[in-house]
Amino acid sequence: MAKPPTSRKPAARKRRLAPAEQARIAEIFRRFEDQESDPRTELDYASPYELVTAVALSAQATDVSVNKATARLFKVADTPQKMLALGEAGLKPFISSIGLYNMKAKSVLATAKILVEQYGGQVPLTREALQALPGVGRKTASVVLNELRIEPAIAVDTHVFRVSHRLGLARGKTPDQVEAELMAITPAPLQTRAHHWLILHGRYVCKAQGPKCEDCPVGDLCPSRHLFVRTPSSRT
Ligand code: SF4
Repeated sequence: MAKPPTSRKPAARKRRLAPAEQARIAEIFRRFEDQESDPRTELDYASPYELVTAVALSAQATDVSVNKATARLFKVADTPQKMLALGEAGLKPFISSIGLYNMKAKSVLATAKILVEQYGGQVPLTREALQALPGVGRKTASVVLNELRIEPAIAVDTHVFRVSHRLGLARGKTPDQVEAELMAITPAPLQTRAHHWLILHGRYVCKAQGPKCEDCPVGDLCPSRHLFVRTPSSRT
């Protein structure tokens, strides 16, 4: 089956940065690092298989809702073999509180079947093999490879997309474009952690509605702050 366009590695968009802009971006990441030097996913997992499954379940769902479901699910099905034995009827009750669970149940089981039949029950940890699994797109593969420290990647979800634009780190109109821009401007040693920093910042500070600009650690470096903070002159 032909790969969707989003599965290809997005071409890095060249963006020539002035020294002042390079310094601003470096300072943003320095402050994020100060706040959390070793950020990790908030999804609970104990093995690559649990991570792949949890990330696949998290599409258009919160990590909290996925953790609640997998806390019970992984007690009975923490391997592809056990997941297959559980079957669709057995799996659905565990994940019925997660959005799109019917479709996700089919993908999780189809993935489990491939892992058992083609990979001896192990998760193949290459981008190409991961993206060939049902329900695993470029973003999911990026999250898995990045979280397991196999390949630096900045998967772009709704939080990363929003924060990148507000902070002036990217201008792309699609997640793939934003990913390419972020990878191009983020110093290599920080690329693995940048994904988490941007997600956490978007989840807890730079929220879609009502960003907490007054408490923002990078507020003085943000070109969008004035859009959300009322100054004395704007109140008159
Ligand atoms: S200042 Fe406001 S808009 Fe800018 S990054 Fe911080 S929370 Fe987001």
